[in-house]
Amino acid sequence: MDLESIRTKLLVDKADLEARLARTHKHIYQKEEAVSANFSEQIKQTENDDLVLALDQEIQEEMMQIKLALNKIESGDYLSCSHCGRPIGLPRLEAIPATSLCIDCADDPPP
Ligand SMILES: [Zn+2]
Repeated sequence: MDLESIRTKLLVDKADLEARLARTHKHIYQKEEAVSANFSEQIKQTENDDLVLALDQEIQEEMMQIKLALNKIESGDYLSCSHCGRPIGLPRLEAIPATSLCIDCADDPPP
């Protein structure tokens, strides 16, 4: 896989995350649809809301990593570790395209 294929994969992942965010946002912000007149259903709905909020948070973090990776490709820094500056290595980037750390730094994350 070359850099251009990795970039394409990141863009596909980003589009997928955007679609998922659109769904969680619809759930979070369109309350009139979600609120039920039935009390026990309302409680379920609230629990569900917490799950959706957590999911939304998770997706946004993933999205941020992908955007960072795309920025690094643009600026030519994609192949180097953000922490130590050594090459991350293509096999690792192919496996985890959104990573910005080499395997050593990922194993021993900076404080
Ligand atoms: Zn490193």
